[in-house]
Amino acid sequence: MTTDILIIGAGITGTALAREISRYDVSCVVIDRACDVAEGATKANSGIVHAGYDAVPGTLKAKYNVAGAAAYPGLCRELGVPYKRCGALVIGFDEADEKTLRNLLDRGIQNGVEGLRILDRNAALEMEPNLNPDIRSALYVPTSAIVSPYEMAFALADDAALNGVDFRFSQPVRSIGRTEDGRWHVRTDTDTYECMAVVNCAGASGAELHNMISDIQLKMIHRRGQYYLLDRAEQQPFAMTVFQCPSRMGKGVLVSPTVHGNLLLGPTAEDIDDPLDTATTAGGLAEILQKAGKTWPGISTRTNITNFSGIRAHLTTDDFMVGPVSGCKNAYEAVGIESPGLSSAPAIAADLCRMIAEDLKWNRKADIGIRPALKREKAFASMTAEERAEMVRKDPLYGNIVCRCETVTEAEIRQAVRRPVGARTIDGVKRRTRAGMGRCQGGFCLPRVAAIIAEETGCSLAEVTKDGGCSRILADPLDSFLKGGGDRE
Ligand SMILES: Cc1cc2nc3c(=O)[nH]c(=O)nc-3n(C[C@H](O)[C@H](O)[C@H](O)COP(=O)(O)OP(=O)(O)OC[C@H]3O[C@@H](n4cnc5c(N)ncnc54)[C@H](O)[C@@H]3O)c2cc1C
Repeated sequence: MTTDILIIGAGITGTALAREISRYDVSCVVIDRACDVAEGATKANSGIVHAGYDAVPGTLKAKYNVAGAAAYPGLCRELGVPYKRCGALVIGFDEADEKTLRNLLDRGIQNGVEGLRILDRNAALEMEPNLNPDIRSALYVPTSAIVSPYEMAFALADDAALNGVDFRFSQPVRSIGRTEDGRWHVRTDTDTYECMAVVNCAGASGAELHNMISDIQLKMIHRRGQYYLLDRAEQQPFAMTVFQCPSRMGKGVLVSPTVHGNLLLGPTAEDIDDPLDTATTAGGLAEILQKAGKTWPGISTRTNITNFSGIRAHLTTDDFMVGPVSGCKNAYEAVGIESPGLSSAPAIAADLCRMIAEDLKWNRKADIGIRPALKREKAFASMTAEERAEMVRKDPLYGNIVCRCETVTEAEIRQAVRRPVGARTIDGVKRRTRAGMGRCQGGFCLPRVAAIIAEETGCSLAEVTKDGGCSRILADPLDSFLKGGGDRE
């Protein structure tokens, strides 16, 4: 297949970049080895839009974090993505922590973060009464926010696709080379892509792909972060995200509400060998309880619904690498995009797209040629009784509740499959609609969701997977039985 530009990786960086590129008069393809958008670090992080007080002034992390965080509210409004400016506290327990907090305050001021203030113990406890009363002080960060990271990536991808970008999944890149006329030649297991320009947005595999084409070899450390996710509760113990002091390994263990009203505890920071090893471990989970328990003495995991982990793509240079790949004409990269990569993505994408467009002398599409973001209906779960009645009147499938824990309707699940970059798996539906995200974790709704995916996509039930590859959920004879397919020999 031939295209002007090929993006490798459909995480938050690749989708944000694809959306920027879709504003230009060029053809663009995004490929990913996974079966959906956001299957890498983008689906497994803390979901914090960091304010920018932690990154060392002068680094790319600082520059893109602050600019990215500023872009989030408008972008989320435009794309209909859940975002909440809940604020954050970084808490300290002793003199050494207090020194760290003062350093963070200084860094934040240098980075241009507004509203930062050090609180004494009483002021912090007044804001968050469930905090450990042994704290000594805290850094208050009013502009810290929370977002749904994968919903953001889905919305960016949908918007890019609506404006002409082609997304292709199950395309693991195996080699990258040059054709005789200087174009790039990218091979996956099943396809070959020829393009004028290529962009590496491959997250944890970013260094591996960089090293395929560049003489300057990068070294990446894969740092796993494990989490506890607790069920939604009427009364959250904390209104803000509460961090402990950061260390060399990361921003420390947090206790944070999510935009959907769950509570998140974690992450750990463990260097591991396998960039795909997203296991959770007894040791890692125990460590979270011990550390999060220091923030929240009343800690309870009674409502724990799941655990997960994500992999940070840490470069030994300790900063993002964004721009042209040195010595490789028309190759670009966003590599080493660890935290605050989610917060930074809109700014990285805008900057990278500007560099590429200038190099390749692209023409911007006229505003009139850009299709506006698809309007996303408010979730049925958060509608008033009157709004629900109106939706059911317009489309009776809104009257059919498929996921009881999260009140997700058949209409919403069908829409999720029909979106421009629609769900093709059980997990894809789950992340787009929340069906299966609740207390029973899909125990009730999974068969119905599978049947809807099969109906909508025209595949057999036996072909529906949890998250691609061989994660099929039904054996063929059962499929035949459920569809009334008659006797088998
Ligand atoms: C535990 C943890 C907590 C974090 N918390 C935060 C936070 O609160 N706030 C914040 O701002 N940031 C946070 N981050 C960082 C943030 O999640 C990442 O910076 C961001 O998601 C990186 O996005 P990406 O698109 O660059 O990479 P990814 O999301 O990893 O996407 C890379 C994509 O490339 C694909 N790919 C890889 N190799 C190949 C190949 N060979 N061929 C084809 N496709 C390939 C993958 O399948 C994947 O979809 C956290 C990260 C972790 C792990």
